[in-house]
Amino acid sequence: RAKAFGKAQLALYNDSLQEEVHQRLNLENALSEALARKQFELYYQPIVQVSAGRSHVVGVEALLRWWQGERLVPPDEFIPALEETGEIVEVGDWVLQQACTQVQQWQQDGLAGLRCSVNLSSRQLQEDGFAQRVATILKETGLPAASLVLEITESLLMRDVPDTLATLRELESMGVRIALDDFGTGFSSLGYLHRYPLHIIKVDKSFITKAPDDDRLKAISRAIIGLGRGLEMDVIAEGIETPEQMDFLHTEGCNFVQGYWFSRPQSASMIHPILVKLSAVAYDASPAEEVLL
Ligand code: C2E
Ligand code: MG
Ligand code: MG
Ligand code: MG
Repeated sequence: RAKAFGKAQLALYNDSLQEEVHQRLNLENALSEALARKQFELYYQPIVQVSAGRSHVVGVEALLRWWQGERLVPPDEFIPALEETGEIVEVGDWVLQQACTQVQQWQQDGLAGLRCSVNLSSRQLQEDGFAQRVATILKETGLPAASLVLEITESLLMRDVPDTLATLRELESMGVRIALDDFGTGFSSLGYLHRYPLHIIKVDKSFITKAPDDDRLKAISRAIIGLGRGLEMDVIAEGIETPEQMDFLHTEGCNFVQGYWFSRPQSASMIHPILVKLSAVAYDASPAEEVLL
C-alpha cells in the first residue's frame, strides 16, 4: 500500500499515523488516572411513562461523563479507549456502585420504585462472577434488584461469548431486568430476542429523530414497537425532542420515552428537582419548558 505513495506523501502518512498513535497514548494515560482523581461523574436522564395524557418518571439512565480539567468529555470520546485497555471493567464497577447508591437514596427521599438503568460493556459481562458482583453491589447499596436495569447492545450479544447467556439468566433470576439498547442499529437478528432473557427494547434515537415526517422510519418504529409488545417487553423510545414525536409514539402505543423533550442528562443535584416534578406532570403541559425554567 505504501508503494502507491510518493516519498513526500509517505512522510505525511507516517506523520499523521504517529500523531494518531500519540494522541491515543495521551488519552489512555490521562484516562488511567481519571478514576483515582475522581474525574468521572454520572449524569442522569429521566425515563418517563406516558399514559392517557399523563406522564410520570419511572426511572433514570446513568450516563458517564469525564471532567478533563474544565472540559466535560462525552462518553463516545473515551469509552472505546477504556474498553481497549480493559479499564472499563473497573470504571463500570464504579458506575454501577455509584448509580445504585444514588437511586437508592432518591427512593428513600420519596421517589419510591424509581428504576436505575446502567449501560454495560461486553468486557464487564465477560468477567468471571459478574452476576455475583452485581448481587454484592445491590446488597451493599440496598437497592432492590427489581429496581436495576442493565442495558446491553446487540453487538455484545453478537460476539456470542459462551457464558453470556448463563450470566444474563443468573441476573434475571435475581430479579434484575435486561434492556436491549440502540435496537435497530446493529444487525438486529431477531433470534437474539428469542434466545436471550431480555425484558426491554430501546428503540434507537436515529429512528425517532426523523419520525414522524418520514413514512419509512415511521413504519420501522411502528414495527419495533409492535414486536416488543407482542413479546411482552417494555418498549422505550430514545431521543424524543418534539411534541410531534411524543404524539406519534403515544398513538403507536409506545408507553415509555426518554429524550431532551423531558430533560437532557444532568448531574445528580440538577436532575433531582426535575425528577420530583416529572413524578406527576401532564404531558400536554410541555414539561420541558415547565421544568427547565
Ligand atoms: P445510550 O446508552 O444509547 O444513551 C443515550 C444517549 O442519547 C446519551 O448520550 C444521551 O445523552 C443521548 N440522548 C438522550 N436524549 C436525547 C435526545 O433527545 N436527542 C439526542 N440527540 N440525544 C439524546 P451520551 O450520554 O453521550 O452517551 C452515549 C453513549 O455512551 C450511550 O448511549 C452509551 O452507549 C455509552 N455510555 C454512557 N455511559 C456509559 C457507561 O457508564 N458505561 C458504558 N459501557 N457505556 C456508557
Ligand atoms: Mg443506554
Ligand atoms: Mg441508546
Ligand atoms: Mg449506545
